[in-house]
Amino acid sequence: MEAFYFSPMLLGINLIFALAIAATALWRMSRPMPAPVFWMVGAWSLVFGVVLFGVFVLTRNPIVNIVSNMLQLCGEALFILGIFRFIGRPIPYWILPVSVAIVGGVNVHYWVTSGNSDLLMTVYSLVAALLPVQAVILLLRLRDDPSTRPARVLVGFCLAIYSAVTFARAWFSWSAYASGQPYVQPYESFSYLLPYNFALPALVMGFIGMTLMTMQRILAESHINAERAKENTLRFERLLNVSSAGVAVLRDGRICDSNLQLESLLGQSRTQILDSEFALYFKKRERDLLAKSIRDADGALVDIDVRRNDGSILNTELRVLPLLGDSGDYIAEIRDVSHRRTLEDELKRLATTDPLTGVLNRRSFDGLFSRALQRAVRHKVPMCLAMLDLDHFKSVNDLHGHQAGDAALRLFSQYCEREARGTDEFARIGGEEFVLLMTDTNIEGAMTILQRLLRGVSNLRLEGSKGYFTIELSAGLAEFVEGDTADSLMERADRALYNAKAEGRNRISTSF
Ligand code: GH3
Ligand code: MG
Ligand code: MG
Repeated sequence: MEAFYFSPMLLGINLIFALAIAATALWRMSRPMPAPVFWMVGAWSLVFGVVLFGVFVLTRNPIVNIVSNMLQLCGEALFILGIFRFIGRPIPYWILPVSVAIVGGVNVHYWVTSGNSDLLMTVYSLVAALLPVQAVILLLRLRDDPSTRPARVLVGFCLAIYSAVTFARAWFSWSAYASGQPYVQPYESFSYLLPYNFALPALVMGFIGMTLMTMQRILAESHINAERAKENTLRFERLLNVSSAGVAVLRDGRICDSNLQLESLLGQSRTQILDSEFALYFKKRERDLLAKSIRDADGALVDIDVRRNDGSILNTELRVLPLLGDSGDYIAEIRDVSHRRTLEDELKRLATTDPLTGVLNRRSFDGLFSRALQRAVRHKVPMCLAMLDLDHFKSVNDLHGHQAGDAALRLFSQYCEREARGTDEFARIGGEEFVLLMTDTNIEGAMTILQRLLRGVSNLRLEGSKGYFTIELSAGLAEFVEGDTADSLMERADRALYNAKAEGRNRISTSF
């Protein structure tokens, strides 16, 4: 027993145990690389195999002996398979069952026929020595993947030493068998000196090489990844700058990236923009809209005004999308739509106003009138409607020309709009016919307003082809009474106007 304690066998077992722990650590840190899994499982298989062999030496149990030899061969085969996996060559899985089966078969035969242990050892060593040969050739000759080449050569040399020592062991075992030497305990035999003193350290060195080549590959891959990340960043930046819209990447409500277009849109430099609060570029009352847009992040377009650095306001269209899944970053795209907004405003103006005078047209007046009526009904407030018609306007045209007539209509309209109060509505409803709607005003108040208007209009000086002229107008006034509709009120005002004309013009007639 003491001989076992002082034999290299015990040291070998410890060495393999250390190797298995190191292989486990390598597997853990190199995940998800597949090759270190083979090495880890192989190392533990070797550990169990060698420990069981120790148990066999102490117990002489044949089953333990067979299993221990098979496990050791299995471990070695897995090491070799891992190398193929690492290099990326087709994995010769067959070597595992074939080598384990040969050794297992010969081992069973040995126990069944009480055979010679040196012969068994010869076969075992031959299989073990042959296993790494293909891998050694591959490791030493392979030219591609230069980043791992130095470590690969180291592994190749170590495995070559392992193979040579194991061949030598086969030779010694065969010589012992041939010369009929008597059986000696493994820990006292010369043929066991070789694997534990030389082959195992070579395997450990080989594993160090495997660790190095794994590290080199990780380094090379991380270098490639870093290059790729750099490339992606450049591409992202380029994409951002190609966009005709201002783009901001938002994190926690702040701008963490932006493009050139955003700088010109906001009138600020990139350094000013970066890390600034995005909401500050919007009016206070529009920030709820902005917050909703970020919350939804569904890419819906939102019309929102942006405040530029110089304080001016820019009409924009905003849409927000998540940048990457649930990263919490958003990408906000801001497009200058002031041109579109101007066109829309112009279209709206054209649709609601009269082109000659610029005052409200009949259609938009009708809308305002019905709303004012509803309000008067609901809140029981007074309201008056006046129908205005210029007197003898046909003769103005005839005398001074149509253009002077047009100019007169424009001047008259401007004057009336100026004189009307903010709550009143003034509109052109026909050639030289206008209406003035006076809300919150009773008939007396309306009368006063109209008298002032008539006076003012008669004082307007107009220039025609035959010198200066003035205009006059007649007005028909009607007050809203309960049960009135837009038509009935209009009709009464019209009737009153008719009366004013009939009574001699340049006057106000009232309809009750
Ligand atoms: P009164 O209302 O006092 O009875 O006489 P009037 O001459 O004004 O009669 P009427 O209302 O029948 O005629 C309206 C005239 O207004 C006819 C037309 O020559 C003129 N007129 C209507 N629209 C325009 C316009 O857009 N430009 C110009 N220059 N004249 C217009
Ligand atoms: Mg008329
Ligand atoms: Mg007229």
